[in-house]
Amino acid sequence: MRAMSVLYVILGAILGWLAGILVNLLADDLPPVGEEGGVGRLRRPHCRSCGAGHTRLRVTAVGRLMSGRRCPACGTPDGWRPLVVEIGFALAFAWLTQWAEGDPVRYGLGAVVALIYGLICVIDIEHRLILWRTVWVSAVALLAVALLRSDMGWQKALWGGAVGFALVFGVFLLGQAYAAWVARRRGQPLEEVAFGGGDVNLAALVGLTVGWPGVLVALFIGIFVGGAFAIVFMLVQLARRRYDPHQPIAYGPFLAIGALVLFFFAPLVRGWLGAA
Ligand SMILES: [Zn+2]
Repeated sequence: MRAMSVLYVILGAILGWLAGILVNLLADDLPPVGEEGGVGRLRRPHCRSCGAGHTRLRVTAVGRLMSGRRCPACGTPDGWRPLVVEIGFALAFAWLTQWAEGDPVRYGLGAVVALIYGLICVIDIEHRLILWRTVWVSAVALLAVALLRSDMGWQKALWGGAVGFALVFGVFLLGQAYAAWVARRRGQPLEEVAFGGGDVNLAALVGLTVGWPGVLVALFIGIFVGGAFAIVFMLVQLARRRYDPHQPIAYGPFLAIGALVLFFFAPLVRGWLGAA
């Protein structure tokens, strides 16, 4: 690698680390507090257990590693998520410098897409929620990304968004009908179905990201990977004798994987499709 290239990778990693700190702060504050709690508000960086403000060192997970991994005010141990997110974004943004091939606009677009899906996945995994606020801000940002891409444009993106929304809304309705049927048979309501309302909104974002007809491929990849994961998960639970056929799985991250694969590796996916 040339010296310039190494420099870019290091700058990318630092930028990614900062992006990871931002995602951690948003993922801490955006979800509603408590069961019926109000809408989460953005606040100064603080401990999630006792609300005490973080010292400057403890704003980052890397800093927290050096400060004993416990909140100095209440003693609650630090979770692993902030560290995983900061390292993950540092690696991703370093890799983006290679993906962008020296084009700063391309780098920026890739960074925005990575940020959006990173935040949505963290919140969905932790809370089983895809927040409406995150969705509409992301939709506006993804439409802007589409406008700046030479191979997309707003029409293609909007068509993708509409098709993604309609398809997963159809699956959502089927899931609702299935849940109602199961509820009648068991005499009690089924708590969660495969696709929730949030997944319908997320499918619209996937469509905005990859456009029409890419949305079909992205959703297929997402559902295929999600299904494969569900089967492996089911086998593991069967082996541990903990299998429950109605145990819900968060599908949001798998839809996100579909969108990310198609956004970042479109030529590769086109190669597979051409070979098939
Ligand atoms: Zn605390």
